[in-house]
Amino acid sequence: MKVLVAIKRVIDYNVKIRVKSDETGVETTNVKMSMNPFDEIAVEEGVRLREAGSAEELIAVSIGPKHAQETIRTALAMGADRGIHVETDDEIEPLAVAKLLKALADKENPDLVILGKQAIDDDSNQTGQMLAALMGWSQGTFASELGISDGKASVTREIDGGLETIQITMPAVVTTDLRLNTPRYASLPNIMKAKKKPIDETTPADLGVDTAARLTTLKVTEPSSREAGVIVEDVVQLVDKLRNEAKVI
Ligand code: AMP
Repeated sequence: MKVLVAIKRVIDYNVKIRVKSDETGVETTNVKMSMNPFDEIAVEEGVRLREAGSAEELIAVSIGPKHAQETIRTALAMGADRGIHVETDDEIEPLAVAKLLKALADKENPDLVILGKQAIDDDSNQTGQMLAALMGWSQGTFASELGISDGKASVTREIDGGLETIQITMPAVVTTDLRLNTPRYASLPNIMKAKKKPIDETTPADLGVDTAARLTTLKVTEPSSREAGVIVEDVVQLVDKLRNEAKVI
């Protein structure tokens, strides 16, 4: 089995996001970037499938500027066998990412593509579903457990109020939820080894994909700050405030 994982380079989840003063987006200059956390889980799952002997090859794909190669190196240090970098400086929307991944999947013929359920920068939660639709493949989204046997994948999904387990035929697209696994840290020897692993470079034009934006961002603003709370004297005052100030009862 061949597995492809899609990894996005995003602003590190520990960074306090600053909105640009002209409200066109968020500051990315001199900001720490890392692999999207859900994609680390995707890589970990792929590496575990390789270690368990279910997969023979694990390929990490990232679409983005030159620095996206650092993110691919991280995936290689975690255990991916090789990388593919689709280089572009443009902002790529989920549909275009899905089209690029389709073009790569048509070339590489993987049995399984694992993506994060969402990228923490755009929070779109669209790419995996779009890729499955474009490929005409089965999909198991928000996976918290994944098992592969006899050309089928069993996916336990995190849904409102519980878990749902489905069986899907391969090839398939799976998107990861937080509880699927705990990604490993790359060891120093593996970071060194990763430097020698190959990364193929390509571009959206090479893959014949038009990545022109379909959406226009009107403006990006800071969330409004929370107002300070008050301590009420007693239940009567609480009910009064809920009824007359908050008007929620
Ligand atoms: P989204 O639909 O934007 O929330 O992203 C969902 C998933 O699609 C991410 O967790 C990644 O696995 C994948 N993805 C999105 N953008 C990219 C990108 N530029 N390069 C590689 N994978 C991506």
